[in-house]
Amino acid sequence: MSDHPQISVIIPLFNEEENLEVLINALIKVLQLMNQSCEIIMVDDGSRDHSFEVVKQLAEQDKRVRGFSLSRNFGHQVALLAGLQQARGNIIITMDADLQHPPEIIPQLIEAFQKGYEIVNTRRIDGKETGQFKKFTSKQFYRLINHIAEVNIPEGSSDFRLMSRKALDAFLQFGERDRFTRGLVSWMGFPQTIVDYECPPRFAGKSKYTLRRMLHFAADGITAFSARPLRIASYTGLVVFFIGLVYAVYAIVKHFNGQTIPGWTSLLVTVLLVGGIQLLSLGIIGEYLARIFHESKSRPLYFIKDQVN
Ligand code: UDP
Ligand code: MG
Repeated sequence: MSDHPQISVIIPLFNEEENLEVLINALIKVLQLMNQSCEIIMVDDGSRDHSFEVVKQLAEQDKRVRGFSLSRNFGHQVALLAGLQQARGNIIITMDADLQHPPEIIPQLIEAFQKGYEIVNTRRIDGKETGQFKKFTSKQFYRLINHIAEVNIPEGSSDFRLMSRKALDAFLQFGERDRFTRGLVSWMGFPQTIVDYECPPRFAGKSKYTLRRMLHFAADGITAFSARPLRIASYTGLVVFFIGLVYAVYAIVKHFNGQTIPGWTSLLVTVLLVGGIQLLSLGIIGEYLARIFHESKSRPLYFIKDQVN
């Protein structure tokens, strides 16, 4: 094991050129204090700016920095996986490239690991800087997922985390494509703990999680860990069916009593209601179907285009 570093830090990045140097300097400073061998794995997720050139430069200056460039943008979760698959250390730490995951917390994570935890998660305590919208959507997302999914993920979780080699080897056994890392990690078990940290604003650049990406992420998380939306669809369908049945009996009785009047309103309401619920249910089924389709193709998750060190 002597040629293997003790600590691997994994950083997926997408258009983060202005952040990398500051991040690496801060990180190396912290890691030096730990007095253990380390490697820093930077996975460029198909950036369109000069991120990978910066990574190359940093890797030239410091051999502990290893860079991988994916052939295109595959998304945060896939880039994270690509980095995890390259890690050689016994302690594996994943973090964002925008300095929202302060490197200064790493000693606390390692301390928890030394106490015997195989997985050390972190929880963001929102500072004043976090936008109201992000705070609100994030909170609702965790409330929803903890309510309907079969895993428990604390509010404010992120992919700033420490895993032992044992936990990482277990994690790498998951074969699924739509990877909702924090759900998978929670599902794995092993002794886990949580370290709180205050989340500073991004050092530079903009968030890559647009509303659309956040919705997609939420859908992945929910469908990966719960079949309840499917059940909700069928229950709603059932309830509407019975209401429809009662209404139909009522209409027939009315008919034989000779009291039929042109019921435009009731007709319209029924059509709209039933139509809406049918569309909703179809949509939910479609979401799951799309994921089955996606899984069944078994395509490679990513390609590496270039690498240094
Ligand atoms: N990221 C990535 N690929 C993507 C989107 C984001 O590798 O397609 C990286 C990004 O560079 C950052 C991390 O994932 O290091 C988290 O993204 P971001 O900071 O934009 O998310 P937020 O903190 O706003 O939730
Ligand atoms: Mg961020």
